[in-house]
Amino acid sequence: MRFESFSFAPEILHAISECGYQKMTPIQKEAIPAIRRGQDVLASAQTGTGKTAAFALPILQKMFDNPSDTQRSNTRALILAPTRELVAQVADNIKQYSRYLPISVLTVYGGVKMDTQAAKVKKGADIIVATPGRLLEHLQACNLNLSNVDFLVLDEADRMLDMGFITDIQKILQQVNRNRQNLLFSATFSSAVKQLANEMLVKPKLIAV
Ligand code: AMP
Repeated sequence: MRFESFSFAPEILHAISECGYQKMTPIQKEAIPAIRRGQDVLASAQTGTGKTAAFALPILQKMFDNPSDTQRSNTRALILAPTRELVAQVADNIKQYSRYLPISVLTVYGGVKMDTQAAKVKKGADIIVATPGRLLEHLQACNLNLSNVDFLVLDEADRMLDMGFITDIQKILQQVNRNRQNLLFSATFSSAVKQLANEMLVKPKLIAV
């Protein structure tokens, strides 16, 4: 199945074709329509399956369909990932997919000075891709507000829990707009991941690839 079948904006189709993608991967075929409909998603997927595009493309389309009527500094999508490397990789992909859209992307991760990062975080972005620990530090310092987040993605949830991020994630969840769409991706499903999915997701579409 080709991306054209899902009525993406020409700006998004153009960017996808510049990435060299022609056909959708199996997870994209299942996740994209569900996310476009507004459903929560619980997906079992390894890296390499095309999962980043599976959540990023429909989120970008929905953000493009409903332009924000508030200031640009309001984060509309929050993506949490376990490591700095994964945060950078996910953000790079999203920047490619959104290169023809008026949508900004910011990365937030530990290992760099809080002060330098705080200025960028305060300025804000439409999409934030972050590791949980550093994002929580910025929340506690009141550097950002997550009350307008419409889309929350947990990428590699199993690794985040293995790394001990559960408390940080729960604290972040308390500060995110309650009326949002949730997408949880994990390679494995331990009881801890299942419990988090139960707490977070409302009638999710289950996807296994
Ligand atoms: P991911 O699983 O998101 O880490 O993606 C793995 C790799 O597949 C990345 O290099 C993507 O650029 C690439 N990719 C994602 N979707 C497609 C697609 N539909 N066709 C070809 N390559 C893709």
